[in-house]
Amino acid sequence: MSASRSALRPYVCSSCRHGVLAPRRRFSSKPAQNPEIYDVVCVGGGPAGLGLLAALRASPVTSKLKVALVESQDLDKARSWDLPTHEFSNRVSSLTPSSVAFLRRIGALELLDTDRVQDYQQMQVWDGETGSKISFDWAEETSPFEDPRTVATMTENANLVRALLSRIEASGDENLKIFSKTTVSSIENGSDHPDGPDLSAWPVLTVAPSEASPASTSEPPVRIAARLLVGADGINSPVRSFADIATEGWDYNRHGVVATLALSDSEAPTFPAGMRTAFQRFLPALGGPIALLPLPNNHATLVWSTTPEHAAYLKSLPPNAFISMVNAAFRLSMTDLKYMMKMKRVGEEEEVNQHDAELTWRLQHTPQPNHIPPMVTGVQERSVASFPLRFRHASTYISPRVALIGDAAHVIHPLAGQGLNLGLGDVASLSNTIEYAVTHGMDVGDLLSLERYSTERWGANAKVGGVCDLLHKLYNVPGQGPVAWGRSLGLNVIDRLPFVKGFLMRQAEGGA
Ligand SMILES: Cc1cc2nc3c(=O)[nH]c(=O)nc-3n(C[C@H](O)[C@H](O)[C@H](O)COP(=O)(O)OP(=O)(O)OC[C@H]3O[C@@H](n4cnc5c(N)ncnc54)[C@H](O)[C@@H]3O)c2cc1C
Repeated sequence: MSASRSALRPYVCSSCRHGVLAPRRRFSSKPAQNPEIYDVVCVGGGPAGLGLLAALRASPVTSKLKVALVESQDLDKARSWDLPTHEFSNRVSSLTPSSVAFLRRIGALELLDTDRVQDYQQMQVWDGETGSKISFDWAEETSPFEDPRTVATMTENANLVRALLSRIEASGDENLKIFSKTTVSSIENGSDHPDGPDLSAWPVLTVAPSEASPASTSEPPVRIAARLLVGADGINSPVRSFADIATEGWDYNRHGVVATLALSDSEAPTFPAGMRTAFQRFLPALGGPIALLPLPNNHATLVWSTTPEHAAYLKSLPPNAFISMVNAAFRLSMTDLKYMMKMKRVGEEEEVNQHDAELTWRLQHTPQPNHIPPMVTGVQERSVASFPLRFRHASTYISPRVALIGDAAHVIHPLAGQGLNLGLGDVASLSNTIEYAVTHGMDVGDLLSLERYSTERWGANAKVGGVCDLLHKLYNVPGQGPVAWGRSLGLNVIDRLPFVKGFLMRQAEGGA
């Protein structure tokens, strides 16, 4: 039986490696200049990649490592991102208390613009088909002398990215190189330079200005070598392809429709003051749940998971009809909603909002539970958009001198708002792993060092991704059959068992 070259590679000393290296990963034909060597090269400057760099720079053990970040988008735009106080980006994430604690620990939390961030303490989740409900009220779990506990903290992704960039830059530019507007054009194994180091088992990246950048024609490509190459480069990760790591997964044939909404201020005053609620209603007949998550100043962000056809319909509606559809989705029966999803689209110039008239009429004949959100009264211009929903999980997060984090490693259904939280969990674990390796004099790119990261994260992420997938499937069976009964039993029973509910709430907080 013969082992594959790539499997053997990490266990063979460098002087003997020539025989076991895959030729595919050998670097180019003509003698090239020695690449610049970094301890850690991170491809991808989204929240996961920037989080990793910020964490490495924040720790006294790893702050002196020579690190580079390569991001194809313009990070100057992310640095100077700004919106008026009454406007919000439509890409918003709910951060669990563990993610918030991690951001605090690395000194990034204090750099968030807190006027644009909103905590919530209650969650109302119910099944639109059976009406069964589970309410997550953290106040019940807290003694009257404690502040009500936060379920999650809503932040615009852009606010988080800007804070992480500031945190990285506040650590100074010694041993730090940020390649913005720069794309990785190739990654290959280096070579054994007679007059330099043996990089034959090291990833060497060729990076060049992104096509849209004015520098793309004037600046020559640069070559950099990585002791550890981190793929934080999203769902289509080039780093994952280089490392030949397979993914399993599927497309949900669903889109997440997002929008920034204004709410009526008729919501009853909350007690204790300032307590806010997130709402999610499962709509099996329409392909997924609709969620309304609070933002400051009586605003909210929408994530409505539905079929591509319904998503296209919703996006094509004029603002007033879109608002009526969102209000209807939290209030009307599946039959009513299916009817309204087929109504003729009315042009923006039309004076009569047919959707609103339909909603008003149907509401008179629909009993309303007491846990519905306040009425939506406005939708921010150009904030309605949609994203295809997918499930992907890499078969492993590590390979020699490579680690994957964030969406490069896993993409999950957003119904529990956990994708970015899992990414930040990866960041915390990988930065600890690197810290451990440095403290113990180990090579940070060695598989032996990286095992710890993979062991901590792969199973934990698979569990959360699997639960979200199961919930998606369970809540996509319309009608009143056995699955719907099971669903309603599940939610109602959980709602009456404080201990089980408490356990679920701690899971949602990101705790064990
Ligand atoms: C509708 C919706 C709602 C969501 N809501 C939530 C929520 O409430 N809570 C939550 O936790 N998560 C949520 N998520 C998930 C969350 O948005 C993602 O998990 C998170 O943004 C992924 O971050 P990342 O840094 O891993 O990847 P990305 O944000 O995808 O960053 C990857 C980066 O790599 C760069 N890149 C790619 N290729 C190259 C290359 N060749 N060279 C250089 N750079 C490259 C890209 O430009 C990009 O900046 C939601 C997702 C969706 C779709």
